[in-house]
Amino acid sequence: MALELAGCVVLASGGFEGNAEMMTRYIGPRSVYLRPICKGGYYNRGEGIEMALAVSAQGCGDFGSYHAEPIDPRSGVAEPSVLIFPYGILVNKDGQRFTDEAPGTVDAHYERVTRRIYEQRDGAAYVVLDAKHMRVPNYRLAIRTDKSPIVADSAAGLARAIGVPEQALLATLEAFNRACVSGDYKPLELDYVATRGLTPAKSHWALPIDEAPFHAYPIVSTNVFTFGGLKVDPSARVLDRDGEPIAGLYAAGEIIGTYYGNYAGATSVLKGLVFGRIAGADAAARHRFGSK
Ligand SMILES: Cc1cc2nc3c(=O)[nH]c(=O)nc-3n(C[C@H](O)[C@H](O)[C@H](O)COP(=O)(O)OP(=O)(O)OC[C@H]3O[C@@H](n4cnc5c(N)ncnc54)[C@H](O)[C@@H]3O)c2cc1C
Repeated sequence: MALELAGCVVLASGGFEGNAEMMTRYIGPRSVYLRPICKGGYYNRGEGIEMALAVSAQGCGDFGSYHAEPIDPRSGVAEPSVLIFPYGILVNKDGQRFTDEAPGTVDAHYERVTRRIYEQRDGAAYVVLDAKHMRVPNYRLAIRTDKSPIVADSAAGLARAIGVPEQALLATLEAFNRACVSGDYKPLELDYVATRGLTPAKSHWALPIDEAPFHAYPIVSTNVFTFGGLKVDPSARVLDRDGEPIAGLYAAGEIIGTYYGNYAGATSVLKGLVFGRIAGADAAARHRFGSK
């Protein structure tokens, strides 16, 4: 979306999550495993970014990265996130653990855990849970997929149902359960009930996974939005590569490149609101006083 306002242009057309060529160019060939978190994302194809770069705009933000969220790949609804993994373990398609599932609170750490999922074969993993997760108060809030869990009466049955090597999953579970030690388990706060002597460790809520029924959900990383975009000044004016404002060109929202490495929760809509308002006010004021 580009608004022409008082003889100025405000670019507000989002990132490039819907553009397979830009995704591959900036994020890499594995981005074939990344899809936008909802269907509208396919319409954000980076045209505003490319047009601005073509008139010497300066890029900003981490072009090689994106806001990652863990979702159920079986689902077609918007944002079918699966955030229950702190109460289970994550295994890849070889039945191996590959990350600390609970380095801290899930809202602060889900993006980093999801990036580890993206690195696995086919960009996919499974969260494996036992009956205990259903006793976590309000646990359903952490499962927004419309698809049912894969359920089995035994760990071996679950391995067969999700198609990971049975012996590998059983060995992973046995090693994990052996590393669990008793502690003051508190499901709704960081409890430091951690595994001992296990690599990778699980830092909180590490209870043995041994109580039927066993549940699993497939998880892939999805792309909420891309991090790379345009550089603006505090008046939302797009800057060129010498740091000078490009006459009459503004940007607002996701198209402004901001983030590096990790998304700071709840700042994205805020960025659109703040810079959209500033861009409109600045463009109107400059028009009124006849300068751009
Ligand atoms: C599922 C989901 C959950 C989210 N949750 C949060 C949250 O909890 N908190 C938070 O802060 N942020 C959240 N975000 C991120 C936030 O919603 C976006 O960063 C924000 O909406 C971006 O606003 P925008 O106006 O810059 O871009 P968009 O809302 O993406 O709008 C861009 C518009 O431009 C249109 N467009 C694209 N290209 C062109 C073109 N060439 N010509 C004309 N039009 C074009 C698109 O179709 C679209 O309508 C979430 C995003 C998603 C998808």
